[in-house]
Amino acid sequence: MLNITTGLIIWCSEATTLAAVLFLAWRHDRRSPAYLMWALGFAFSAVGLGLVAARGLIPDTLSMEFGNGMALLGESAWIAGFHRIDKRRLQWSALLPPAIWIVGIKLPWIHESYANRVFLYDLAGAVGANLLASAVRPAEGRRETTRSQLAFVFMALAGVCLASSVSMIVLRPSLEEALTYRGYSALGCALLITTAIALSGRLLMERAERRWRAISITDILTGVLNRRGLQDYFPLVAEKATRGSAKIAALLFDLDHFKAINDRYGHQSGDTVLAEFARIGRQFVPGSAAFGRMGGEEFIAFIPVVDQAEAEAIAETVRADFCRVPLLAGQSLVSATVSVGLAIMPCDIANWDRLVSAADRALYAAKRAGRNCTIVFNEAEAALTTDAPPDPNGGELVPTLDDQIHALRRLGTLAQM
Ligand code: GH3
Ligand code: MG
Ligand code: MG
Repeated sequence: MLNITTGLIIWCSEATTLAAVLFLAWRHDRRSPAYLMWALGFAFSAVGLGLVAARGLIPDTLSMEFGNGMALLGESAWIAGFHRIDKRRLQWSALLPPAIWIVGIKLPWIHESYANRVFLYDLAGAVGANLLASAVRPAEGRRETTRSQLAFVFMALAGVCLASSVSMIVLRPSLEEALTYRGYSALGCALLITTAIALSGRLLMERAERRWRAISITDILTGVLNRRGLQDYFPLVAEKATRGSAKIAALLFDLDHFKAINDRYGHQSGDTVLAEFARIGRQFVPGSAAFGRMGGEEFIAFIPVVDQAEAEAIAETVRADFCRVPLLAGQSLVSATVSVGLAIMPCDIANWDRLVSAADRALYAAKRAGRNCTIVFNEAEAALTTDAPPDPNGGELVPTLDDQIHALRRLGTLAQM
């Protein structure tokens, strides 16, 4: 037969170790309060069930009433931990398991009978396991396998607790039978909790990996993709283009006379200008594209497009918005402009090297054309060998938005004549 006291002592030592490990993890990374909550959860559980194991050696109020309540408070702390990893606010409902126990144990018919106390404790445990399952469930529409598995384990835990609780009322077992049933249900709960601990460890590792990956592909100054991120995302853009639009455009942006801006207004103001350009780029480049910083004052966007006109419109919108009004950088108003080299290719021949090299040659032509403009290399020009020296007269100057508005106004005036 299972010896409950031995089981409780084994659990206490396991829970104390986990509490210590989680506490050290929290000391190492204080931005993760979830570790502290879980450490407290295991500490409450260890102390609470340690008091229960000491039944007969210490007063009943301390062992049975306070000990079980404390163990259930551990469940509340675990629930709070799962809320904190998602940066959600703590909810009062997390305190339901110990609250159910504290209120219920005052009732004489529960207090007097072992089977009825197990009924109450396991009912509170089932409510807690259910709250754990809802705290960890993936958000609507997101596929996160570890979270789904963890939610399933907590639901199973709730099921075992509920079955144990109900059996005490329905079967009306003798004390000896109740101890046996309780022993088996406690073993089932311990196995499920061990599985949940392993899955929670995996959840934390996956979360840390996602965080480091996001850091490794993000440009720290502007928050857009860095070169590594652009290289990672390029195949996704190419795939989207193959499925839909059939063409890829590369828009290479280079801020004009940026060295002079740094020299005149200071490096920090230069940084503000870079961040502002990135904001504008993010605003106008469509979500299907990859937009990021190639390095220095150069940015690039790879966009799946249907035709050249679509790519030109995006390039011109970004260019025109950037030079529209001077930027406030520190105490100074800085006027900045950008030149754009645009290359477009059908996706069956497009690759990173070809597109970047063609966009770079178009950018060279834009600088030669006087800056603050867009030069486009159509499919034929973009496909020229990259070994050829850049043709300063190559490419086609895209009429600026101002030019286009001016032309429309003139057409309007002519129509009225
Ligand atoms: P052009 O119009 O021909 O592109 O001239 P430019 O001055 O923009 O080009 P150049 O390549 O001569 O200078 C680029 C400058 O960009 C030099 C470098 O100090 C500055 N720069 C590169 N990275 C950063 C950065 O992160 N912050 C700031 N503030 N400046 C940077
Ligand atoms: Mg440059
Ligand atoms: Mg420049």
